Amino acid sequence: MTLPVPRPAVAELPAYVPGARGAADSLPPIKLSSNEVPFGPLPSVVSAMSAAAEGINRYPDMFAVELHERLAERLSVAPDQVSVGGGSVAVLQHLLQAYTGPGDEVVFAWRSFEAYPILVPIAGAHAVPVPLTADARHDLDAMAAAVTDQTKVVIVCSPNNPTGPSIRHDEFEDFMAQVPRRVLVVLDEAYVEFGRDPETVNGLAALDRHPNLVLTRTFSKAYGLAGARVGFAVGSAQLIRPVRACVTPFSVSSLAQAAALASLDADDELMERVEAVVTERPRLRNALRELGWDIPVTEGNFVWLPAGERAVPIAQALAGREPALLVRPFVSEGIRVTIGTPEQNDALVRALSELA
Ligand SMILES: *Cc1c(COP(=O)(O)O)cnc(C)c1O
Repeated sequence: MTLPVPRPAVAELPAYVPGARGAADSLPPIKLSSNEVPFGPLPSVVSAMSAAAEGINRYPDMFAVELHERLAERLSVAPDQVSVGGGSVAVLQHLLQAYTGPGDEVVFAWRSFEAYPILVPIAGAHAVPVPLTADARHDLDAMAAAVTDQTKVVIVCSPNNPTGPSIRHDEFEDFMAQVPRRVLVVLDEAYVEFGRDPETVNGLAALDRHPNLVLTRTFSKAYGLAGARVGFAVGSAQLIRPVRACVTPFSVSSLAQAAALASLDADDELMERVEAVVTERPRLRNALRELGWDIPVTEGNFVWLPAGERAVPIAQALAGREPALLVRPFVSEGIRVTIGTPEQNDALVRALSELA
């Protein structure tokens, strides 16, 4: 009996490996595996979600009008320059569906965000990964050189997940000057709120200079709403219109819309928490460097340990501790560790120092 067969590209998709979550029967793990913030939701966000739950028999606002308006106001753009989706991964999928298809190429850096090589073939396009430089940065000249007549989209991740460096303003401008305007450049700014380096490219300002540029951002990281699933793209109305057309109807739930709106109201409080993570960043990086780890500069809420072949064994040893210390290994490459509370970071440094 012959059963339905998926498209070959789908049968061959790499699997997304989520950060480890820990076992149910042991002490709560120290979860530093998914670049979440270590703090629970704000009471105001929980109460907005509870209130939204009272009306959960109704469909959400399909066009998330209020959220688009509030985001537009926040970013000083028009509401039709924003497209909201169920996490910025979903938004990236909408972008790829809108701008690529069979026979097209999508260029991105590698190692970078692991959703890229999954989403590109789902859209039917061909992935063109370009290796990072030796210091774990995007090789933007090589990426520009990888653009062919078939290239429809280039994805640039700043700061780069999982390695940490952000894209500098000057190198971004050089890159954009080399990329033809018919190619859509997507600047993935999932961690933009954690950035403090004044040389980092300012995506919003760059939108005015580059009509082929779109940004993606998320409520999952700095805003602490990874479980709610809300992200968005920003660009010119002309570029955003087809992205909106590809959005799965009603995909941002009423709970998620309420959570995002309440988080925008609580911006000051949330950014104080981001600051707490940013304050820990040099302290953790220095402590790990003292242990001998060559940690690249990082502008995100995570650090990269270039552990090579030791990546998986070290992650397993950390996970075997009580409580388990959960990190995200990349086989034969390295380990990404999310910056947690001072106590969690101390526990990580202690555990790594005991590994020897
Ligand atoms: C976490 C992350 C995202 C966004 O995830 P969502 O939860 O889907 O918004 C996007 N890009 C990068 C580079 C990330 O690390």
